[in-house]
Amino acid sequence: MPMRTRFRGITVREGVLLPGPAGWGEWSPFLEYDAVVAEPWLRAAEEAAAGDWPDAVRDRVPVNVTVPAVGPEQAHAIVLRGGCRTAKVKVAEPGQSLADDQARLEAVRDAIGPGGRVRIDVNGGWDVDTAVASIGVLDRAAGGLEYVEQPCASVEELAAVRRAVGVPVAADESIRRAADPYRVRDLEAADVAVLKVQPLGGVRACLRIAEDIGLPVVVSSALETSVGIAAGVALAAALPELPYACGLATVQLLERDVVTDPLLPVDGALPVRVPTVDESLVAADPERVAHWEARLAEVRVVRQDRGR
Ligand SMILES: [Mg+2]
Repeated sequence: MPMRTRFRGITVREGVLLPGPAGWGEWSPFLEYDAVVAEPWLRAAEEAAAGDWPDAVRDRVPVNVTVPAVGPEQAHAIVLRGGCRTAKVKVAEPGQSLADDQARLEAVRDAIGPGGRVRIDVNGGWDVDTAVASIGVLDRAAGGLEYVEQPCASVEELAAVRRAVGVPVAADESIRRAADPYRVRDLEAADVAVLKVQPLGGVRACLRIAEDIGLPVVVSSALETSVGIAAGVALAAALPELPYACGLATVQLLERDVVTDPLLPVDGALPVRVPTVDESLVAADPERVAHWEARLAEVRVVRQDRGR
């Protein structure tokens, strides 16, 4: 699947749709991940195909519009077009200055209005001192920040920043494996946990983590098609409380989808439903099919080694 814009350094998104008694599950670990890392992603796909999701307690999931590190005019237009009440703004882009981030945030606040929420995502780009200094500046530029996501790379640094600033801190890259959320909790490193269904092994696994860590959760995508996004929606729909908009409005980053009814936001929210796969939209050349079959076989070896 070609991507509309380069994201996370990739221009093509690959994955597998697995059939099951309840429909389809998406298995789309990034290409550089080995079989051990990709194993929980497969559990998430199998759970989806089996239809083994918890009951929903809401029928729509508010989502954020994402503003890349663009100039203020473009940022303004993206927020207006997005139609969401929450904007997530990328900052600390290499080669840009704090003044660039300030101008982008002022434009975003202007576009979203005084009642909208604005969060920033640093993707671990600052050290602690830079984070503490920059968050104050950007909090003023944004007319108040909802939270700052992953200001620094390590959990220890997140904890230090959290102790030093008044703006809430969210952990994203610090949570990639099942044990990570507990470390974030134990070090009191974040006020908000960003959870992704595939890397953490499925909707039910994420729901258990959310219960155990006692932090508000933002459900985010791993750049899936609508089939994978539906799993994120199922998690967000099942959480007892959902105080923040989720990062699940990412289907539009892909040039195509594999369903007849893509999970795109309407009035700033995604509907809670399972989209219908159109098999004529799923295609790959034989070389890529062989690649993914080999990956699948490697994950099965990992499971055998663990005695499953
Ligand atoms: Mg993030």
